[in-house]
Amino acid sequence: MNAPDPVRHLATTDGTADLVGLDMIRRLVAFPTVSRDSNLELIDWVRAYLEDLGATTALTFDDDRRKANLFATFAAQDGNASRGGIVLSGHTDVVPVDGQPWDTDPFCATLVGNRVHGRGVTDMKSFSAIGLAFVPRFLDRGLKRPLHFALSYDEEVGCIGVRRLIADVVAKGVAPTGCIIGEPTGMQLVVAHKGKKAWRCRIRGHEAHSSLTPQGVNAVQVACDIVAWIGERARAYRTSHRQDPAYDVPFTTPHVGVIRGGTALNIVPRDCTFEFEIRHLPFDDPDAFFADVERHAQTYLPAMHAVDPATYIQFDHISTLPGFDDDGRNAIADIGRACSEAHTTHKVSYGTEAALFHNASMPAVICGPGHIEQAHQPNEWVSLDQLARCEAFMERLAQHLCIA
Ligand SMILES: [Zn+2]
Repeated sequence: MNAPDPVRHLATTDGTADLVGLDMIRRLVAFPTVSRDSNLELIDWVRAYLEDLGATTALTFDDDRRKANLFATFAAQDGNASRGGIVLSGHTDVVPVDGQPWDTDPFCATLVGNRVHGRGVTDMKSFSAIGLAFVPRFLDRGLKRPLHFALSYDEEVGCIGVRRLIADVVAKGVAPTGCIIGEPTGMQLVVAHKGKKAWRCRIRGHEAHSSLTPQGVNAVQVACDIVAWIGERARAYRTSHRQDPAYDVPFTTPHVGVIRGGTALNIVPRDCTFEFEIRHLPFDDPDAFFADVERHAQTYLPAMHAVDPATYIQFDHISTLPGFDDDGRNAIADIGRACSEAHTTHKVSYGTEAALFHNASMPAVICGPGHIEQAHQPNEWVSLDQLARCEAFMERLAQHLCIA
């Protein structure tokens, strides 16, 4: 097993001695599990750690077997390993550090004042590490319900890996009460998030000298007209459409994020491509939005074809991440409320793996240490206070999971 050497010992003279999970955070951060690279060293290490404690484990791999998801189960003392219980879930991958100005080694969790710096300390290795570090305590108190860990790959590039893990868990007939996803929420309880769907639009026009524009089809202009129309739809969602004030952004948001086209000012551009998405409230249908975009795009074709029948407008689907929302009315939300001592629940506009669990009959909440503002940043940090709150959450979870 290739456990990395602990690179710097986190201080124990400043109040951090009380934290159970610091050593595990340091270990997980030291595996440089950037999404493009293998996560197998981390997975192998965690798998050995959990098996030593008595877990049964299963791996699901990507096509190249360079990355794996780990699903691990501690059965209850009565032998029940599949009915009820809790899944603690986290993604193992982190975003790259290339080109970012870090003041410390990003893959060495380093105490700076009352914060721990390191890639992934917020998004989202600390939650997984604290859960793992608490296993001996849970076992000492005796499990009355199963405890599962779901550690996935390739979350940061579209929640790709976890889909295989979920399919495997469903096939095995494991039916937990629910799943806690430790994405950074500042330990607030998030019970819903928006869905997201993304597409690419490719426009083929017809080149001409820019003094002869009527003889060309300007792909950039067509793209901009469609982009402007999407902007109008975005304004309509904001001003005259059903909203849900529980979300940080309480309406559905279409958005164009990339546009590329043209080669020189004196050429009517032949090609233009743009990418767009819709982050939608669960009651808004992303496919209906897309059908409208497609229908609108068709209206440009007769004029384009009149100049050149080879011109076209085509769409490629890029990604889909469903949303989920049952307003916090389920058992896992009740458990989350009790463990976080949250008086309010929240709904967020960014996607997570929660919806995929939720839609596979594993109701999910999101609750983890750190804040999304620190995620993906240079000098990513999490405060010791947030870690302490997460550990208090695990202590209260023990009351639900354990006999003693
Ligand atoms: Zn994350």
